[in-house]
Amino acid sequence: MNVLVINCGSSSLKYQLVDMKDESVLVKGLVERIGIEGARIKHETTGKEEVIIEEPMKDHKKALELVLDAVIDKDYGAIKSMDEIGAVGHRVVHGGEVFSGSVIIDEKVMQALEDCIELAPLHNPPNIMGIEACKALMPETPMVGVFDTAFHQTIPAENYIYPLPYKYYEDYKVRRYGFHGTSHKYVSKRAAEILNKDIKDLNIVTCHLGNGSSVTAVEGGKSIDTSMGFTPLEGLVMGTRSGDIDPAIIPFIMEKENIDFHEVNNILNKKSGVLGISGISSDFRDLEIAANEGNERAKLALDVFCNRVTKYIAAYSAQMCSIDVLVFTAGIGENSDTIREGICDGLECLNIIIDPELNKTRGKEAIISKNIGGVTIMVIPTNEELMIARDTLNLVKNI
Ligand code: ADP
Repeated sequence: MNVLVINCGSSSLKYQLVDMKDESVLVKGLVERIGIEGARIKHETTGKEEVIIEEPMKDHKKALELVLDAVIDKDYGAIKSMDEIGAVGHRVVHGGEVFSGSVIIDEKVMQALEDCIELAPLHNPPNIMGIEACKALMPETPMVGVFDTAFHQTIPAENYIYPLPYKYYEDYKVRRYGFHGTSHKYVSKRAAEILNKDIKDLNIVTCHLGNGSSVTAVEGGKSIDTSMGFTPLEGLVMGTRSGDIDPAIIPFIMEKENIDFHEVNNILNKKSGVLGISGISSDFRDLEIAANEGNERAKLALDVFCNRVTKYIAAYSAQMCSIDVLVFTAGIGENSDTIREGICDGLECLNIIIDPELNKTRGKEAIISKNIGGVTIMVIPTNEELMIARDTLNLVKNI
């Protein structure tokens, strides 16, 4: 069966068509600037040249229509007709407390997704638009929702309840949800597979370090704690997000700068993190170059980033009483040897010892720890699309 994987943002749509016979990617692409002037699709069928399709797209339905045309195009497509798409898997950011796993999308699920909008006002509406567009264009094709929050639904209450008046949890569902769940699940499973061990016997800490970053404690295959919280703002220092700060700073700055909560929210999400500290960039490549050229604030931003990750790894190791495997993934985790080294520097007390030669690896699966019986440190490229395609196949194969 071929599974179409869809990941909708507010003005973007990422897609992949996966042949589940051998899990090979037939087509992948990215639509940008939906509803904005200059909309375009970057479309690539495996084994063929990438094509750019430029055409106005007033909404996600039009974008998806063009994507489906491209997928079945006789010159740059991969299949002959839409009948060859057996199911569609949708990435959905927030599943609230309702979804602890992937589900077949029906009317009840759509209602539950609507109910989650207030928890993820920026992310869930475009996800819902993507599902609506697919329903309109492929009404007979089964669809599955795969949630970023689902993997973290195993986190126990002592790790998800905030020390606030309990009624905020009861009335408004204010609690830790965690994100990047599909990625943490994929790399932790993959780590066990590569090591040929049963995941039930492993305590793993997974570090998803990209534009958004989070760390998860995976005990026996289950997420028991994660650094992102009620929103993806908590936890690690990120490209432009602050992560953990003293909450009292917020009213202090609001008063000093005479700004309202919209503005402070924007500062914490878009102007903080390594961008805020360095004043240069949110991109770690730029920061590494600047730090090497002697820019002190770029170096400081990278040091603050690394220290925060180090702290979480140590905390999660303690929560699980031990750590067997440490995994790095996503843009920074997969590619930056200096950041991986900076994070592990200081974790020798936990037997986390990186091998400088093995650490030179980039963008592929590798073990990078010194082979002296300590914690196994791994680089594992994430593959959220494959995870979504697998869940989709598993749910639709029996209907
Ligand atoms: P997203 O969260 O948008 O999926 P990615 O996982 O693609 O992000 O990560 C993007 C980030 O990865 C970039 O902002 C960049 O800082 C970082 N990155 C990518 N390649 C490298 C590299 N070679 N060295 C350092 N950082 C890198």
